[in-house]
Amino acid sequence: MRTPDPQPRGIRLKARHVGVFYGEKQALFDVSLDVPEKAVTSLIGPSGCGKTTFLRCINRMNDTIEGCRVVGDITLDGQDIYDPSLDVVELRARVGMVFQKPNPFPKSVFENVAYGPRIHGLARSKADLEEIVVASLKRAGLFEEVKDRLREPGTGLSGGQQQRLCIARAIAVSPEVILMDEPCSALDPIATAVIEELIDELREHFTIVIVTHSMQQAARVSQKTAFFHLGWLIEEGPTEVILTHPRHKKTQDYITGRIG
Ligand code: ADP
Ligand code: MG
Repeated sequence: MRTPDPQPRGIRLKARHVGVFYGEKQALFDVSLDVPEKAVTSLIGPSGCGKTTFLRCINRMNDTIEGCRVVGDITLDGQDIYDPSLDVVELRARVGMVFQKPNPFPKSVFENVAYGPRIHGLARSKADLEEIVVASLKRAGLFEEVKDRLREPGTGLSGGQQQRLCIARAIAVSPEVILMDEPCSALDPIATAVIEELIDELREHFTIVIVTHSMQQAARVSQKTAFFHLGWLIEEGPTEVILTHPRHKKTQDYITGRIG
Protein backbone atom coordinates (compact mmCIF):
# COMPACT_ATOMS: atom_id res chain seq x y z
CA MET A 1 0.00 0.00 0.00
CA ARG A 2 1.20 3.51 -0.78
CA THR A 3 1.66 5.88 2.10
CA PRO A 4 -0.58 8.90 1.79
CA ASP A 5 0.89 12.33 1.15
CA PRO A 6 1.66 14.13 4.37
CA GLN A 7 -1.35 16.20 5.46
CA PRO A 8 -2.76 17.48 2.19
CA ARG A 9 -5.31 19.96 3.47
CA GLY A 10 -8.30 20.93 1.43
CA ILE A 11 -8.97 24.53 0.54
CA ARG A 12 -12.65 25.36 0.86
CA LEU A 13 -12.35 29.07 1.56
CA LYS A 14 -10.73 31.24 -1.08
CA ALA A 15 -10.38 34.99 -1.40
CA ARG A 16 -9.44 36.47 -4.78
CA HIS A 17 -8.54 40.10 -5.45
CA VAL A 18 -10.52 41.33 -2.48
CA GLY A 19 -10.63 45.08 -1.96
CA VAL A 20 -12.56 47.01 0.66
CA PHE A 21 -13.57 50.67 0.66
CA TYR A 22 -14.93 52.72 3.53
CA GLY A 23 -16.56 55.48 1.54
CA GLU A 24 -13.79 56.89 -0.66
CA LYS A 25 -11.00 55.42 1.41
CA GLN A 26 -9.63 52.05 0.32
CA ALA A 27 -8.63 49.94 3.32
CA LEU A 28 -7.79 46.64 1.62
CA PHE A 29 -6.09 46.08 -1.76
CA ASP A 30 -6.18 43.04 -4.01
CA VAL A 31 -6.03 40.38 -1.29
CA SER A 32 -5.93 36.77 -2.48
CA LEU A 33 -5.65 34.06 0.14
CA ASP A 34 -6.42 30.35 0.44
CA VAL A 35 -7.56 29.23 3.86
CA PRO A 36 -6.77 25.57 4.54
CA GLU A 37 -9.49 23.55 6.23
CA LYS A 38 -9.10 22.09 9.69
CA ALA A 39 -6.13 24.31 10.41
CA VAL A 40 -5.56 27.68 12.01
CA THR A 41 -4.59 30.61 9.79
CA SER A 42 -3.40 33.75 11.52
CA LEU A 43 -3.59 37.26 10.19
CA ILE A 44 -0.84 39.48 11.55
CA GLY A 45 0.39 43.01 10.90
CA PRO A 46 0.51 46.47 12.43
CA SER A 47 -2.60 48.12 13.80
CA GLY A 48 -4.81 49.51 11.02
CA CYS A 49 -3.37 47.24 8.28
CA GLY A 50 -6.78 45.71 7.52
CA LYS A 51 -6.85 42.45 9.49
CA THR A 52 -10.30 43.01 10.98
CA THR A 53 -11.56 44.39 7.69
CA PHE A 54 -10.49 41.21 5.90
CA LEU A 55 -11.94 38.97 8.59
CA ARG A 56 -15.27 40.78 8.34
CA CYS A 57 -15.36 40.09 4.58
CA ILE A 58 -15.52 36.36 5.25
CA ASN A 59 -18.91 36.43 6.99
CA ARG A 60 -20.11 39.65 5.36
CA MET A 61 -20.06 41.59 8.59
CA ASN A 62 -18.91 44.56 6.48
CA ASP A 63 -22.47 44.60 5.07
CA THR A 64 -23.54 46.10 8.38
CA ILE A 65 -21.14 49.06 8.04
CA GLU A 66 -22.62 51.99 6.17
CA GLY A 67 -20.56 53.13 3.21
CA CYS A 68 -18.48 49.96 3.17
CA ARG A 69 -18.01 48.29 -0.22
CA VAL A 70 -16.30 44.98 -0.95
CA VAL A 71 -14.91 44.03 -4.38
CA GLY A 72 -13.33 40.78 -5.56
CA ASP A 73 -14.43 37.21 -4.87
CA ILE A 74 -14.72 35.08 -1.79
CA THR A 75 -15.91 31.51 -2.17
CA LEU A 76 -16.78 28.91 0.43
CA ASP A 77 -17.02 25.40 -0.99
CA GLY A 78 -16.97 26.99 -4.43
CA GLN A 79 -20.00 29.13 -3.65
CA ASP A 80 -19.71 32.92 -4.04
CA ILE A 81 -20.57 34.28 -0.59
CA TYR A 82 -21.44 37.67 -2.13
CA ASP A 83 -24.04 36.10 -4.42
CA PRO A 84 -27.15 38.27 -3.89
CA SER A 85 -29.30 35.14 -3.58
CA LEU A 86 -27.23 33.85 -0.67
CA ASP A 87 -28.89 33.92 2.75
CA VAL A 88 -26.58 35.98 4.97
CA VAL A 89 -28.05 34.58 8.17
CA GLU A 90 -27.22 31.09 6.97
CA LEU A 91 -23.74 32.23 5.93
CA ARG A 92 -23.09 33.54 9.44
CA ALA A 93 -24.05 30.15 10.84
CA ARG A 94 -21.53 28.53 8.50
CA VAL A 95 -18.95 31.18 9.31
CA GLY A 96 -19.07 32.00 13.03
CA MET A 97 -17.28 34.86 14.71
CA VAL A 98 -15.68 35.48 18.08
CA PHE A 99 -14.86 39.09 18.95
CA GLN A 100 -12.10 40.88 20.82
CA LYS A 101 -14.21 41.53 23.85
CA PRO A 102 -16.32 38.62 25.08
CA ASN A 103 -19.91 39.62 24.27
CA PRO A 104 -22.33 37.07 25.74
CA PHE A 105 -26.01 37.92 25.39
CA PRO A 106 -27.65 39.20 28.58
CA LYS A 107 -29.18 35.77 29.05
CA SER A 108 -28.37 32.58 30.93
CA VAL A 109 -25.33 30.45 30.10
CA PHE A 110 -27.70 27.85 28.64
CA GLU A 111 -29.63 30.36 26.51
CA ASN A 112 -26.43 31.87 25.11
CA VAL A 113 -25.57 28.54 23.54
CA ALA A 114 -29.16 27.41 22.79
CA TYR A 115 -30.02 30.59 20.87
CA GLY A 116 -28.31 29.73 17.56
CA PRO A 117 -29.47 26.11 17.30
CA ARG A 118 -32.99 27.27 18.14
CA ILE A 119 -33.23 30.02 15.49
CA HIS A 120 -31.66 27.73 12.90
CA GLY A 121 -34.02 24.88 13.82
CA LEU A 122 -31.21 22.45 14.59
CA ALA A 123 -32.91 20.68 17.50
CA ARG A 124 -35.98 18.49 17.11
CA SER A 125 -36.80 18.39 20.81
CA LYS A 126 -35.93 19.91 24.15
CA ALA A 127 -33.67 16.96 24.90
CA ASP A 128 -31.99 17.45 21.56
CA LEU A 129 -31.34 21.10 22.31
CA GLU A 130 -29.92 20.25 25.73
CA GLU A 131 -27.61 17.75 24.13
CA ILE A 132 -26.31 20.35 21.67
CA VAL A 133 -25.76 22.89 24.47
CA VAL A 134 -23.89 20.42 26.66
CA ALA A 135 -21.78 19.12 23.76
CA SER A 136 -20.89 22.68 22.71
CA LEU A 137 -19.95 23.71 26.24
CA LYS A 138 -17.83 20.57 26.55
CA ARG A 139 -16.11 21.19 23.24
CA ALA A 140 -15.39 24.78 24.36
CA GLY A 141 -13.80 23.39 27.52
CA LEU A 142 -16.33 25.15 29.74
CA PHE A 143 -18.89 22.56 30.79
CA GLU A 144 -17.22 21.39 34.00
CA GLU A 145 -16.93 24.97 35.23
CA VAL A 146 -20.53 25.97 34.51
CA LYS A 147 -22.59 22.79 34.78
CA ASP A 148 -24.14 23.98 38.06
CA ARG A 149 -24.73 27.53 36.75
CA LEU A 150 -26.45 26.91 33.44
CA ARG A 151 -29.44 29.08 34.44
CA GLU A 152 -27.28 31.95 35.70
CA PRO A 153 -26.38 34.94 33.51
CA GLY A 154 -23.52 34.41 31.07
CA THR A 155 -22.30 37.89 31.91
CA GLY A 156 -21.56 36.72 35.47
CA LEU A 157 -18.72 34.45 34.33
CA SER A 158 -15.06 35.48 34.35
CA GLY A 159 -13.64 37.08 31.19
CA GLY A 160 -11.97 33.88 30.04
CA GLN A 161 -15.11 31.86 30.74
CA GLN A 162 -17.21 34.41 28.85
CA GLN A 163 -14.93 34.09 25.84
CA ARG A 164 -15.23 30.29 25.97
CA LEU A 165 -19.01 30.76 26.23
CA CYS A 166 -18.86 32.86 23.05
CA ILE A 167 -16.86 30.07 21.41
CA ALA A 168 -19.47 27.53 22.59
CA ARG A 169 -22.17 29.79 21.12
CA ALA A 170 -20.31 29.93 17.81
CA ILE A 171 -19.76 26.16 17.56
CA ALA A 172 -23.32 25.25 18.65
CA VAL A 173 -24.55 25.76 15.07
CA SER A 174 -21.78 23.54 13.64
CA PRO A 175 -20.00 26.17 11.56
CA GLU A 176 -17.42 25.25 8.96
CA VAL A 177 -15.29 28.28 9.67
CA ILE A 178 -14.69 30.20 12.90
CA LEU A 179 -13.31 33.73 12.72
CA MET A 180 -11.61 35.09 15.80
CA ASP A 181 -10.59 38.73 16.09
CA GLU A 182 -7.89 39.03 18.75
CA PRO A 183 -9.92 36.74 21.01
CA CYS A 184 -7.45 36.96 23.90
CA SER A 185 -6.75 40.67 23.89
CA ALA A 186 -9.03 41.32 26.88
CA LEU A 187 -7.81 38.28 28.85
CA ASP A 188 -5.08 37.65 31.41
CA PRO A 189 -2.19 35.29 30.54
CA ILE A 190 -3.76 32.25 32.21
CA ALA A 191 -7.13 32.69 30.48
CA THR A 192 -5.20 33.33 27.24
CA ALA A 193 -3.32 30.04 27.58
CA VAL A 194 -6.61 28.18 28.10
CA ILE A 195 -8.11 29.72 24.94
CA GLU A 196 -4.97 29.00 22.91
CA GLU A 197 -5.10 25.36 23.95
CA LEU A 198 -8.76 25.26 23.03
CA ILE A 199 -8.06 26.75 19.58
CA ASP A 200 -5.53 23.99 19.03
CA GLU A 201 -8.19 21.36 19.84
CA LEU A 202 -10.89 23.04 17.77
CA ARG A 203 -8.90 22.87 14.57
CA GLU A 204 -9.56 19.14 14.49
CA HIS A 205 -13.17 19.99 13.62
CA PHE A 206 -13.18 23.54 12.29
CA THR A 207 -11.36 25.86 9.93
CA ILE A 208 -10.13 28.78 11.99
CA VAL A 209 -8.95 32.25 11.00
CA ILE A 210 -7.53 34.29 13.85
CA VAL A 211 -6.36 37.89 13.99
CA THR A 212 -3.59 38.36 16.47
CA HIS A 213 -1.18 41.15 17.27
CA SER A 214 1.06 38.65 19.03
CA MET A 215 3.59 36.79 16.92
CA GLN A 216 4.11 34.42 19.83
CA GLN A 217 0.42 33.59 19.68
CA ALA A 218 0.57 33.11 15.91
CA ALA A 219 3.51 30.75 16.44
CA ARG A 220 1.72 28.80 19.17
CA VAL A 221 -1.68 28.34 17.52
CA SER A 222 -1.43 28.62 13.75
CA GLN A 223 -0.17 26.50 10.90
CA LYS A 224 -0.47 29.26 8.29
CA THR A 225 0.25 32.96 8.67
CA ALA A 226 -0.58 35.94 6.47
CA PHE A 227 1.17 39.27 7.03
CA PHE A 228 -0.71 42.47 6.14
CA HIS A 229 0.72 45.96 5.82
CA LEU A 230 -1.20 49.16 4.97
CA GLY A 231 -4.05 47.16 3.44
CA TRP A 232 -1.89 44.83 1.34
CA LEU A 233 -1.29 41.16 1.92
CA ILE A 234 2.51 41.17 1.79
CA GLU A 235 3.33 37.55 2.37
CA GLU A 236 1.73 34.29 3.46
CA GLY A 237 2.85 30.74 4.08
CA PRO A 238 3.56 28.16 6.77
CA THR A 239 3.73 29.97 10.11
CA GLU A 240 7.27 28.82 10.91
CA VAL A 241 8.52 30.12 7.56
CA ILE A 242 6.80 33.50 7.85
CA LEU A 243 8.00 34.01 11.41
CA THR A 244 11.57 32.83 10.90
CA HIS A 245 12.48 33.18 7.21
CA PRO A 246 10.18 35.71 5.58
CA ARG A 247 11.04 36.73 2.04
CA HIS A 248 9.89 40.32 2.22
CA LYS A 249 11.68 43.12 4.01
CA LYS A 250 8.42 44.51 5.42
CA THR A 251 7.66 41.16 7.05
CA GLN A 252 11.20 40.98 8.43
CA ASP A 253 10.88 44.47 9.82
CA TYR A 254 7.60 43.57 11.49
CA ILE A 255 8.71 40.31 13.06
CA THR A 256 11.93 41.86 14.31
CA GLY A 257 9.94 44.71 15.85
CA ARG A 258 11.10 47.49 13.54
CA ILE A 259 7.56 48.32 12.45
CA GLY A 260 4.24 47.94 14.15
P1 ADP B 1 -6.65 46.16 11.90
O1 ADP B 1 -7.71 45.21 12.34
O2 ADP B 1 -5.52 45.52 11.17
O3 ADP B 1 -6.13 47.01 13.04
P2 ADP B 1 -8.81 47.50 10.48
O4 ADP B 1 -9.29 46.49 9.51
O5 ADP B 1 -9.62 47.73 11.69
O6 ADP B 1 -7.28 47.19 10.85
O7 ADP B 1 -8.67 48.90 9.73
C1 ADP B 1 -8.06 49.04 8.46
C2 ADP B 1 -8.28 50.48 7.99
O8 ADP B 1 -9.66 50.71 7.75
C3 ADP B 1 -7.85 51.52 9.00
O9 ADP B 1 -7.31 52.62 8.31
C4 ADP B 1 -9.14 51.90 9.68
O10 ADP B 1 -9.10 53.22 10.15
C5 ADP B 1 -10.16 51.76 8.55
N1 ADP B 1 -11.48 51.36 9.09
C6 ADP B 1 -11.77 50.25 9.80
N2 ADP B 1 -13.08 50.20 10.11
C7 ADP B 1 -13.64 51.32 9.58
C8 ADP B 1 -14.96 51.86 9.55
N3 ADP B 1 -15.98 51.21 10.13
N4 ADP B 1 -15.16 53.02 8.92
C9 ADP B 1 -14.12 53.68 8.31
N5 ADP B 1 -12.86 53.24 8.30
C10 ADP B 1 -12.61 52.07 8.92
MG1 MG C 1 -8.49 44.84 14.23
